[in-house]
Amino acid sequence: FWKFLQQKFQQEFAAVSYQTWIESAHPLKLEDQKIYITVPSSLHKEYWERNISTKVVEAAYEYGNQEIVPVILLTSDLQKQRLQKSPHPTAAATPSPLAEAHLNSKYTFNSFVTGSGNQMAHAAALVVSEEPGETYNPLFIYGGVGLGKTHLMQAIGHRLLERNINANVKYISSESFANDFINSIQNRTQEEFRNEYRTVDLLLVDDIQFFADKEGTQEEFFHTFNTLYNNKKQIVLTCDRLPNEIPKLQERLVSRFKWGLSVDITAPDLETRTAILRKKAIAEKLEIPNDALSYIASQIDSNVRELEGALVRVQAYSTMKNADISVSLAAEALKDLKESQHQAGLSISQIQMHVAKYYKVTVEDLKGKRRNKGIVVPRQIAMYLARELTDSSLPKIGQEFGGKDHTTVLHSCEKITKLLESDLTIQHDLTNLRAGLKS
Ligand code: ADP
Ligand code: MG
Repeated sequence: FWKFLQQKFQQEFAAVSYQTWIESAHPLKLEDQKIYITVPSSLHKEYWERNISTKVVEAAYEYGNQEIVPVILLTSDLQKQRLQKSPHPTAAATPSPLAEAHLNSKYTFNSFVTGSGNQMAHAAALVVSEEPGETYNPLFIYGGVGLGKTHLMQAIGHRLLERNINANVKYISSESFANDFINSIQNRTQEEFRNEYRTVDLLLVDDIQFFADKEGTQEEFFHTFNTLYNNKKQIVLTCDRLPNEIPKLQERLVSRFKWGLSVDITAPDLETRTAILRKKAIAEKLEIPNDALSYIASQIDSNVRELEGALVRVQAYSTMKNADISVSLAAEALKDLKESQHQAGLSISQIQMHVAKYYKVTVEDLKGKRRNKGIVVPRQIAMYLARELTDSSLPKIGQEFGGKDHTTVLHSCEKITKLLESDLTIQHDLTNLRAGLKS
């Protein structure tokens, strides 16, 4: 199964991501439908839990129609436990208030670094955690990916629980909210669902842009919102854009989301990025000189999650080379990361535009369903290139191509791979397209 996973991920991830996240992980054992996987640092663990674990579950279905859940362990914890001769690598988890609220223990105000890009949002979050339900309700935090929205929102939850361990705090992504809601209809447990969400003191709903297009969920959330609001319970929402920019969001929700305060988070400046890295390095007990920290911070400028990834990469590289971290070592470690970033900078829509222009069709044709030959091949080629040149998953690519199923994308990529073996025109076209896209 591990071999299968490796092959699958090798196709799915860009080379650098694969090296950083997958190659450093090792399977420990398969037991009770759980696969135990060890990783070298807590950043790895977080990344796996957030981004890779669900893929493992999917892969297990693909592999043998089995239900296998990954359990991610830190190599260092495992060693400690071995020393204590504990027979089981996982400590029995007792449900804690944190777990019940679904909060990540790392996302606190203490670990949050403030700077020009997030000062307003941070201040507003503090106020809300001091006076929940009274000042800014709802608090609406918006901004690009990896800039700390989830972190800040959860910090509010932590602060509330610190002050009152019995506070009823609930964190949920808008997608899980939607899923729970749909399940509650199927299982006829709507009553429970309502009780669960309408009785909290603080409701944190993350990434509500995913409410777009979900009529029933919006309807339900509207009532949840009203109940909480009328009872002066605090609501905090995050989104990648402003409420009125969310497609197909009911007007009455848009207006309610604006009742409180909307604050944005923008990309951190160099100083803030360096401070974030310093904090992380201390938390991870890494010895990194200041000039190396500034160097790393200067290389990654838009996304804190990627900044953390760069730190892990440098750390991994220094272990591999058995050398202390310095500016030149960091430069070496990040060399191909920058190249792949350059490629990753390519978006699916850029690829679509380029391919459409090349074949003299329209982007709508590529996204559409028409099946004449003049369109089918360009469409398949565009999908093939999206797969090759971006980090996007198959479902994501399908979505960008007018909402096609991920199997359609896979089929297209396989088709082009097959054609490439013999079809000189396609080989030629692809070479030209790649060159055009990279320039
Ligand atoms: P978003 O929800 O906006 O996509 P996250 O909250 O998930 O972003 O943040 C991505 C990562 O960056 C997390 O690990 C988070 O702890 C870290 N991070 C973001 N902003 C900060 C900050 N100001 N200080 C410390 N860590 C941060
Ligand atoms: Mg988030």
